[in-house]
Amino acid sequence: MAHLLFKGINKVYPNGFHAVHDFNLEIKDGEFICLVGSSGCGKSTTLRMVAGLEDITAGEFYIDGKLANQMSSRERGIAMVFQSYALYPHLTVYENLAFGLTLEGIDADVIEEKVQATAKILGLTDYLERFPRALSGGQCQRVAVGRALIRKVSIFLMDEPLSNLDAKQRVTMRSEIKQIHRSVGATTIYVTHDQTEAMTMSDRIVVMNAGRIQQVGTPYELYFHPQNLFVAGFIGEPPMNFIRGTVENGKLTVGELSLDLKPIVKDVSSIEGKKIVFAFRPEAIEVDPEDKNCYMIDSQVDLTELLGDTTNVYANVGDVNVILKVNPHKTPEMGASFKFAVPYKAAYVFDAETELAVESDLERH
Ligand code: ADP
Repeated sequence: MAHLLFKGINKVYPNGFHAVHDFNLEIKDGEFICLVGSSGCGKSTTLRMVAGLEDITAGEFYIDGKLANQMSSRERGIAMVFQSYALYPHLTVYENLAFGLTLEGIDADVIEEKVQATAKILGLTDYLERFPRALSGGQCQRVAVGRALIRKVSIFLMDEPLSNLDAKQRVTMRSEIKQIHRSVGATTIYVTHDQTEAMTMSDRIVVMNAGRIQQVGTPYELYFHPQNLFVAGFIGEPPMNFIRGTVENGKLTVGELSLDLKPIVKDVSSIEGKKIVFAFRPEAIEVDPEDKNCYMIDSQVDLTELLGDTTNVYANVGDVNVILKVNPHKTPEMGASFKFAVPYKAAYVFDAETELAVESDLERH
């Protein structure tokens, strides 16, 4: 296990492109951290700086209290799993797992022991004599994870390791990687653009956008307490609904809609006259609320999608398109009017200019 510290890390590529800005983060021994954000936001660059595959332009990176900026990859005690699992096609699973150890000149009986132990953790014992072409995508990815795991390192880095798998295999591998982490305990940094992966696997998530950290927190903190509009829109599927407008007399008025913001904002005078974004999650709405501490909003239904456990309702509130999740037994007719409730505790306000969350005293859960 290892403790990692990033202090003001920046990456400027030789062509002048500033890919990572002032990255500050402390990762505890054995933590599972996901770097998440859309393509090009600097996740892989950050991971590659941890691995020693990319120079750090400015800032300090420490492993267990030792400055690691100039350490070689080998000295850092890391293993990395990439998106393309790049197994050697002409080697069996056994030989693929053993490859790194063989190169290091480790005794054959020690290798045998390690391969068997790793294969057991990954459920590959019955496949050791097979070649990669005779394995499923999920099994190949397991071998790739095994190759990293077998080296008993203290830092485990994964760059989109599941993106070549189909949806079902991804779900299975997600829980397998979690279980491996629980049994091995290596400090893990996992890069993904998929917020569901990040939400389900991480101890903490680092949300990045355009080379900058947007928020660091547990999945719970990010879901219930997004600090800004980017995080609010990025975490959650389908994404949060946003209704934009200007505050007048403590109310957001958009067309027919008028929402009194006093119940959900700590100091409503602080946003008087400002452009704001009123936000709520599709799954947070209610149809016949018992608790009256909520906004009642009228909408027109465009389209409904029955998913089984829930129905996605695509509707519009005036000119604004919203997505609502409703109980399938309460699915409204397409084209009908539909009144729904947004509980105060599930309603958020963001400053449209700074994009930061406006303070609230509400308990979110
Ligand atoms: P992510 O992993 O989040 O998709 P990357 O870290 O790969 O993003 O890339 C971040 C940004 O840096 C992108 O805009 C990418 O085009 C740019 N970039 C990556 N590698 C290089 C490079 N060698 N030279 C110049 N720009 C690069």
